[in-house]
Amino acid sequence: MRIPALKTIHRWILRAERTVSLVVALLAGGFSVNVFPGFSQVAKGIDGQYSGRQGQIIVVKVPTEDAVTHMQGSFLGRIISFVPDSRPEESKGFVGLLGVDMQDEPGTHELTIEIKNGELSRRVSYNVLVVKEKFHVEHLRLPKDKVDLDEESLARWKVEQQLVQEALAVDSQVKLWQPRFVEPVNGKRTGMFGSVRIMNGQARNPHNGEDIGAPLGADVAATNDGIVRLIVDHIFSGKGVYLDHGLGFYSMYFHLSEVLVKQGDSVKAGQIVGRVGATGRATGPHLHWGVKLNGARVNPYALLDLPFSRSGTGSLEQGLQGAVPAMPVNGQPLP
Ligand SMILES: [Zn+2]
Repeated sequence: MRIPALKTIHRWILRAERTVSLVVALLAGGFSVNVFPGFSQVAKGIDGQYSGRQGQIIVVKVPTEDAVTHMQGSFLGRIISFVPDSRPEESKGFVGLLGVDMQDEPGTHELTIEIKNGELSRRVSYNVLVVKEKFHVEHLRLPKDKVDLDEESLARWKVEQQLVQEALAVDSQVKLWQPRFVEPVNGKRTGMFGSVRIMNGQARNPHNGEDIGAPLGADVAATNDGIVRLIVDHIFSGKGVYLDHGLGFYSMYFHLSEVLVKQGDSVKAGQIVGRVGATGRATGPHLHWGVKLNGARVNPYALLDLPFSRSGTGSLEQGLQGAVPAMPVNGQPLP
């Protein structure tokens, strides 16, 4: 038998390495759960799996047999609220809305849920695969003074940020929204949710809402029932309304020409809260519509696709009568 030359052996090793790499790649691609501990995240959720794209809302259903009194989840340090699911066509259990932030790290993360039945408590956990979304990226070169805020504006912006954060830390702690969500204005979607502007090589904060082109003065409706948590006139957002829909769910409406509600007002879905304008940093009349779900910045249009929207009257809230648990205050600051 001929002893293979050193060169040939080296080629075999290279080929073997390539084969291993290919297998690893195939496995990693085929399974959302990484089978190689130490490579990246390790699977922990043993009760099932969910997946969703950055900026989307995942509906998590937890089946329960017995009389559960309280259920609350935790995902990437954010609290996820659960309410009894009494949609007639659905099986018994609780349902929670998990917002995937536009900048959540793609990959598998664990959602842990604590289920309480009186004094008894148990935990379930799910793997949630966060899928990368392709957001619009815009590169711009502008004179330096057009890009950076001057000192005074920067100071103002910081104070405003703080004010918003404090206001949103006060959560109504009960679910106020109803199954049907309303599009706030009939206009042209620009698809700018999540888009990143890179100005002179520096990445700006991603655009955390959707811009809807509409004529100056057009009516802006509340997407759902809630409480007016904050009215602002801020450097970037202009005249704006923040609505609190309960359990860590907020919607916001910016660049208004006119605000028609007061802080603390209760509003109904479809109620006109203001009119389209171009206040703040806006190049023309449009509505900036934003949604925060337990601290996650999600695409507001994801609300219109929720399975509750078409489930008929009162299906989800019927099961809520007297069953709304006291949820901890949501005040997750965003990066
Ligand atoms: Zn905008």
